[in-house]
Amino acid sequence: MEIIKGVHVTELDEHGVQVGDEYIETDNAFWLAGVKASPAGEWLGAEVDRGGRVKVQSDLTVPGHPNIFVIGDTACVMQDGKPLPGVAQPAIQGGHYVAKVIADRIAGREHREAFKYVDKGSMAVVGRTYAVVESGPIHTVGFFGFVMWVFLHLYYLIGYRSRVQVLLTYFLGYFSAFRRKGGSRIIMLGRRQAIPDYPQARTLDKTTG
Ligand SMILES: Cc1cc2nc3c(=O)[nH]c(=O)nc-3n(C[C@H](O)[C@H](O)[C@H](O)COP(=O)(O)OP(=O)(O)OC[C@H]3O[C@@H](n4cnc5c(N)ncnc54)[C@H](O)[C@@H]3O)c2cc1C
Repeated sequence: MEIIKGVHVTELDEHGVQVGDEYIETDNAFWLAGVKASPAGEWLGAEVDRGGRVKVQSDLTVPGHPNIFVIGDTACVMQDGKPLPGVAQPAIQGGHYVAKVIADRIAGREHREAFKYVDKGSMAVVGRTYAVVESGPIHTVGFFGFVMWVFLHLYYLIGYRSRVQVLLTYFLGYFSAFRRKGGSRIIMLGRRQAIPDYPQARTLDKTTG
């Protein structure tokens, strides 16, 4: 493994990545440098973090604007001195919280409770039928983790119709995996494990320099 530091990735296509002056050919590229938030922070003229996320108050409002709430990937919510991760749970829980605040205001009640994110754990699909799940006492990898991932994602989707649609898509993807060669969503784990379709990899580290 070779680690290249202090350079930016400037191009990415189906054959490889451009890193500084060098073009590295690869069939597999993994983007770990994060994403840029929506430009909502600019529209609002609000203070934003490095990724463009709006720095909100503990009730998820924009400072100086008690009627403007920012949640999910667009919000930088600090909890215990750290920003919450840009994943689905903070967005879902933020949505529930703001809905309650607005309902209370309409009913003439004061909502004094600050937003408190509850970390329910982490899940990631790292192969077509292979996932890692860490939630409370549950730590599992492999096919069982994948089944948990599928059903928990379905559980959090809104509406019966979208659940059925997504379940069908998962099934199609699962069965087509037997006909196709090569994985599309594989990461390297710390220890060597028999991951289906394990690819050759060259790792770039800290390309945001
Ligand atoms: C490739 C990828 C994989 C991920 N995997 C996971 C995972 O496994 N687990 C996990 O928890 N999280 C995962 N995430 C993160 C998760 O998707 C986000 O944190 C979550 O969707 C944030 O929810 P949100 O409502 O803030 O934004 P979104 O879900 O992005 O919703 C924003 C919506 O606003 C719409 N929109 C944008 N601009 C405008 C506009 N100007 N006007 C009107 N509508 C607009 C968009 O079309 C979109 O529908 C992943 C993200 C990516 C990109």
